[in-house]
Amino acid sequence: MDMGVKAKKCLDALEKEFPSARPALDFTTPLELLMATMLSAQATDKSVNKVTPRLFTRFKSVKDFAKAELKDIESVVSSINFYRNKAKNIKACSEKIIAEFGGKVPATLEGLVSLPGVGRKTANIVLGNAFSKDAFAVDTHVKRVSQRLGLSTHDDPDKVEADLCSVIPKKRWTKATQLFMLHGRQTCAAKKPHCALCRISRYCGYFKTVCST
Ligand code: SF4
Repeated sequence: MDMGVKAKKCLDALEKEFPSARPALDFTTPLELLMATMLSAQATDKSVNKVTPRLFTRFKSVKDFAKAELKDIESVVSSINFYRNKAKNIKACSEKIIAEFGGKVPATLEGLVSLPGVGRKTANIVLGNAFSKDAFAVDTHVKRVSQRLGLSTHDDPDKVEADLCSVIPKKRWTKATQLFMLHGRQTCAAKKPHCALCRISRYCGYFKTVCST
């Protein structure tokens, strides 16, 4: 099957399964989503959503984060994996946003990835969800689902992103990210995918070669 057709059929089915798909991290501003996404690396979204209400109450603006004592940021996020490094990046990132972007989170990929601790995945999540731009963010779930479906054979997230962007129309990139993340979390689990419950198994290379033999 043509890859574009396969991707379309999978996304149509997942949209029906998850009609209210939305970002898993709670936020109200680009700054909040940026900080929450930085915290979510190698941590669950649930654990991040637990600490961000207190974080965003204590530090209300980019200036608050930039002038904060590092230990004060650390104390709020200390339940999150690698919190020391993440707190350091949050502070450094805020300082750079003030120094180089007029105190506003940049709304471009180049601007975002120039910030300390911000990689392409985080940047695309912020662009797609806080700035309503078309952006494909490849996390571990998106990568696994894409590989199993046969939409990418690559392991490097940047190459997976390029493969997905080449077969999925731009206007669907942000929603496709949310749908693949949800599908990866709820059905296409890393160790034991629930293939018997999967609504897109007929399009899945992994299902054909592993599950149905
Ligand atoms: S059939 Fe199984 S491996 Fe394939 S996408 Fe569905 S859950 Fe994942």
